[in-house]
Amino acid sequence: MIERTLVIVKPDGVKRGLVGEIISRIERAGLKIVAMKMVKATREQIEGFYPSDEGWLRSVGNKTLTSYKEMGIDPRAELGTDDPVEIGRIVKGWLVDYMTEAPIVLMVVEGNHAVSVMRKLVGHTLPYKAEPGTIRGDFSADSPDLANRERRSIRNLVHASDSPEEARREISYWFRDDEILEY
Ligand code: ADP
Repeated sequence: MIERTLVIVKPDGVKRGLVGEIISRIERAGLKIVAMKMVKATREQIEGFYPSDEGWLRSVGNKTLTSYKEMGIDPRAELGTDDPVEIGRIVKGWLVDYMTEAPIVLMVVEGNHAVSVMRKLVGHTLPYKAEPGTIRGDFSADSPDLANRERRSIRNLVHASDSPEEARREISYWFRDDEILEY
């Protein structure tokens, strides 16, 4: 089951000097980096990278609504709406701000079950819930209430594709075929 997945060290990871640490963890797990580059992404690049179909916006909006509910936050008071698609659109705007605030490091990571192994190394989307031993759990305690108060996206250090299909789309978005190396 050799798969490829896209991993991004997000701006907070780069600014905090965690690129080496994150690469070490990927290598230590027996995964292979087959392409890598550092980019200061434009807003257009990030807008195109994260999907903008209603299904995706609704799913991000619903995840945000769930985390607000768990924390006793009223979405209407905080964001002026409780419509999942609208909230998805707001969170996507924050994501674009976040992902363009400093350079990012993009990697294609290959290996046995690379998609699910990478998701396991990365940990829960919300760092305050991520297990110790995961990248997010070890290096961040960010949470939706704090992020929302500051009108920003959750800073969770790293992105990893969430399925083999998404991985294919995401890898071809950032890398040409001849930038992915065989060894
Ligand atoms: P993941 O990166 O774990 O796959 P998602 O695809 O659900 O998570 O979300 C994409 C990104 O949106 C996250 O990595 C995070 O930076 C941001 N995000 C997710 N949920 C929230 C939220 N409730 N509030 C603010 N930002 C969020």
